[in-house]
Amino acid sequence: MGIKISDLAKKLGMEVKLLRQKVQELHLGVSKKANVFKDELAVEIERRLSDKDSKQNETPKEVIEAKVELVSDEEDKTVKKEDEKEPVDLPKIEIPKMITVGELASNMDIGVSEVIKELMKNGVLANINEHIDFDTAAIIGEDLGYEVVLCEQEGDSEECLIDKEEYAQKDLVKRAPIVTVMGHVDHGKTSILDKIRKSDIALSESGGITQHIGAYKVKRGKKYITFLDTPGHKAFSAMRAHGAKLTDIAVLVVAADDGVKPQTIEAINHARAASVPIIVALNKIDRPEANVDKVKKELADYNLMSEEWGGNTIIVETSAKTGAGIDELLEMILLLADMEDLKAYKDGPAQGVVIEAHLSKRVGPVATVMITQGCLRVRDSIVIGITDGVVRAMVDHRGERLTKAYPADPVRLAGLSEVPEFGDTLLKVANSKEAKTLVASRKKKISSKGFKPKSIGMAELSQAVREGKIRELPVILKADVQGSLEAIKSSLDNIKNEEVKVNILHEAPGSVNESDVMMAASSHALILAFRSKIEPNALKIAKKLGVNISTYDVVYRLLDDVTAALEGLLQPEVMDVKIGKGRLLRIFTRGRKYRIVGVGVISGYVEKGAKAVVYRENEKVGEGVVEGVKKGNENVAKVQEKNECGMGLTGDFKVEEGDVLEFWQQETKMRKLSRD
Ligand code: GDP
Repeated sequence: MGIKISDLAKKLGMEVKLLRQKVQELHLGVSKKANVFKDELAVEIERRLSDKDSKQNETPKEVIEAKVELVSDEEDKTVKKEDEKEPVDLPKIEIPKMITVGELASNMDIGVSEVIKELMKNGVLANINEHIDFDTAAIIGEDLGYEVVLCEQEGDSEECLIDKEEYAQKDLVKRAPIVTVMGHVDHGKTSILDKIRKSDIALSESGGITQHIGAYKVKRGKKYITFLDTPGHKAFSAMRAHGAKLTDIAVLVVAADDGVKPQTIEAINHARAASVPIIVALNKIDRPEANVDKVKKELADYNLMSEEWGGNTIIVETSAKTGAGIDELLEMILLLADMEDLKAYKDGPAQGVVIEAHLSKRVGPVATVMITQGCLRVRDSIVIGITDGVVRAMVDHRGERLTKAYPADPVRLAGLSEVPEFGDTLLKVANSKEAKTLVASRKKKISSKGFKPKSIGMAELSQAVREGKIRELPVILKADVQGSLEAIKSSLDNIKNEEVKVNILHEAPGSVNESDVMMAASSHALILAFRSKIEPNALKIAKKLGVNISTYDVVYRLLDDVTAALEGLLQPEVMDVKIGKGRLLRIFTRGRKYRIVGVGVISGYVEKGAKAVVYRENEKVGEGVVEGVKKGNENVAKVQEKNECGMGLTGDFKVEEGDVLEFWQQETKMRKLSRD
C-alpha cells in the first residue's frame, strides 16, 4: 500500500513537479522518479512540508495569491533548482579545432542528416565532408544533447597537430597557381596538357623524361604554373567532394570546329559552383572547319563573353597541334594568377593533398601529393589519412630527386606503410611515434564508429532551413529531353520572390551521372531528375556522399516540392492576433510592475504568455504580459470564455477592478509563394 505522488500533490495543493522538487529538498533519500510513497513516508513528507510552508494555513485569498505566484515563480525556481542540484550529465565528446560534419555525427553516434539539419537551423549549410570549426560544432553538439570539449590530446586529428603558432611566425609568400584543364571529350585537353609539358624550359634544360605523376609544373620566365594532369571535371569535382579545393584556375578547352557541347557546359558549371575563374582555350584553330566567331557567340550565351566583345573572359585561340597560342595561354594564366594573389606558407609543417596513389612493385606504396602549405623534406615523418610513413624519397614530374617541396609542388613520394586514398590530406608530424599514434587513433575511430550517411530529403531540407539564413535553393536539374528541361526551368524561374529563388547550378538533358552527384555533394545541391535515369555508379556515389536525388514523372510534383522547399526558406510572418477579452474582477496583490488578479474571460480565451492590453473607460491604461493562468487550484495553459481565472500580470501601470483586458498572442505564419 502507499499513496501516489499525484494524490499527495493534490492533497497538498501543489503540482506534482513541485512536490517532487520539495521532496528532494527534504533529503529523505527518496528517488527522484518515485511515483508512490509508503504511507509513513507520505505522512512524514506532509508533516515536514506543512511545518516548512506555513503558508498552507493562510486565508483563501492568500492561497490564491500564493498559487498564482507559483505559476510565475515556482516554475522558474524549479528549473533553477534542478540546475543547481542535479546537473544533468550530458554525454561528452572530444573534438578537434576543425571537424567534418560526418566525423562529428560519428562522434555523437547520430545520423549525419540530424547534424546537417541542426547546422541548417543555425544558418550553416554544410555537407558530410565539409569542415566546421570547434565553436560551431560545440553549439550543434550541445543542441543535440552533448557536451563538446576541445581535444587537447595530440594525435587525435591533424587539426590538433597543426601548429598554427608555428605558421604565425612565418611569412605568407606567393605561390604558383594550380590549374585544371576541363572541357568536352576530344576537344584537345590532353593534347594541350602534352604541348605545355613539352614546352617547359626546365624540362628541356634538364633533359629529363616526363613522368606522369598526376600533375606537373612548368616554368615561364621566373614563374611557375602547376597543372593537374587528369583533365576533365570529374577529378576536379571528386577533389571538391573530398573537401579539398585545389584548383585556382580552370582552363576550359573548346574545339573551334565543334563549339559548346554538353561536357563544356558541365565544366563551366563545375568551375562556377566552385568559384574558380575560367580561361577559355579555343582550340583546334588550325582546322579548316574552325569557326572562332560562332563558338565565341555560343560561349557568350553561357556568360563567357570575350574581352574584345566587351566581356571579361580571357579567350585564347590555340592549336595543340601547331602550338599556336600556347605561350599566350600560359601568360594569361599567370596574369590571372597575379590578380588572384595566391599565397601560402613556404615554411612550417607541410600539408598536402593526395592526387594519385598506387602500389609500386619496386618501391611499395607511392603517392603524388600536392603540397598546399609549408615545406616537406626527405626524412619527414608524415601521416596521410590512415597511413603513416617517413618520406624516403621524393621526385618531381621530371623524375628528379628532391630534398624539399613547397606549396603548389606536386611530388611523388615513397616511404608510406600503405597506399593512401585520393583526396586524403598529408600532414607532417614531429616523429614516427606521433605518426603511429595518430594513425592508430584514426583507425580505431573508423572501426568503432563507422557511419552511414543518410541523404537529405527535400522536405527535410526545407524544414531544416526554415530558421536558417539560406535564401537560395541550389539544384541540379536533369530531364529526359531538352524540351521538358526548358519547360521546367522556366517554371522554376517563376517560383521566387525578392527573398528566395532557385539557383540552378547545372542543367542538362540525359541521365543523372557521377559528375552531377559530385557537383551536388560539393555544392550542397539537390538533384531534381525529371524522367531521367540515374546511372548505377552515380546512385552508388550519391548514397555514399549523402546526396539526395529526387525523381519525378509529373512536372507539378516537382514544382510543388521546390515551392515547398523555397517557402521553407522564407522568413515566417509574425503577426499579433487578438485571442480574447476579459474583465478584471479582483485584485489580490498590487505590485508596481507585477500584480495578481482575478479575471472573468468575456470572449475568446486567455493563455500564459499572452500580451494583455488594459483599458479603463475605453482609454488604454497600459500593457503587460500574462505570466501564468490558474483555474481554481490548477495551473492551466488556457482559460476559455465564460470562466474566471487568476493570473499574474506584468507591466508598469495600475490596475483597478472593472478594467477591461484584451489578450493578444503572436502568430507565426509560414508565407506562401505564388507560382505564375
Ligand atoms: P581530350 O579528349 O579533350 O583530351 O582530347 P585529345 O587531346 O585526346 O584530342 C582529341 C583529338 O583531337 C586527338 O586526335 C588530337 O590529336 C586532336 N587534337 C587536339 N588538339 C588539336 C588541335 O589543336 N588541332 C588539331 N587539328 N587536332 C587536335
